[in-house]
Amino acid sequence: MKFNIITIFPNIIKSYCSETILKRAQQNNLITVNPVYLRDFTEDKHQTVDDTPYGGGAGMVMKPEPLYKALKSLDAIPFRKADGLSKVKKIFSGDVKKKKRTILLSPRGRQFDQRIAEEWSKYSELTFVCGRYEGVDQRVVDHMIDEEVSVGPYVLAGGELGALIIIEAVSRLIPGVLGNEESLKEETHTLEGVEYPQYTKPADFKGWKVPDVLLSGDHKRIAEWRREISR
Ligand code: SAH
Repeated sequence: MKFNIITIFPNIIKSYCSETILKRAQQNNLITVNPVYLRDFTEDKHQTVDDTPYGGGAGMVMKPEPLYKALKSLDAIPFRKADGLSKVKKIFSGDVKKKKRTILLSPRGRQFDQRIAEEWSKYSELTFVCGRYEGVDQRVVDHMIDEEVSVGPYVLAGGELGALIIIEAVSRLIPGVLGNEESLKEETHTLEGVEYPQYTKPADFKGWKVPDVLLSGDHKRIAEWRREISR
């Protein structure tokens, strides 16, 4: 699975992905994390990626041209939207054969959840567009991406954290990324309710005790207790 992240802050992505499970997943060739520096796709000497909004208003808006060039270089613009492609080419296009998806991080988007993570873990390539400032030119939304996705009902300063949330949630569902595959099965959100509470040693800490049933060794009773408390 390949993750492309179009951003003006590639170091945020590199830094987070160079530790722990995402680091190991890359070393084991299970995932590829490809931060793409948006300013490399500008033509002016200041490497401008934003401009003032038409119609006035506060803040800056991300320009469409650098994002178009960056997405084009990744072959990540959905074919039904891309211009100038022949029908034949559409049939053999990457997103048909390879299952790609291009996502704009946006507080206006569909709320990302575990079900979407499961669906996307079967894809071979996800491309993220990280907004900054007041967001991106609407023509990016209308013509260059598959969909807008939000990581929660609040406004962040940029899409990078959102991209990392999705990369982590999706990666850990890819076979081999987590050490213990069993841990995936019995998890909050995958199950209908929430995951049961977990305890480890000591059995008594400051008088706060681990439930007796967990010390009983009776696996049937333990399973029942966990099912009951998870509802
Ligand atoms: N003016 C915009 C907010 C821009 S925030 C508005 O009111 O809708 C700047 C960027 O941060 C966005 O373009 C988006 O990429 C990212 N972002 C902010 N909140 C987000 C959220 N909840 N989920 C995903 N991305 C978010």
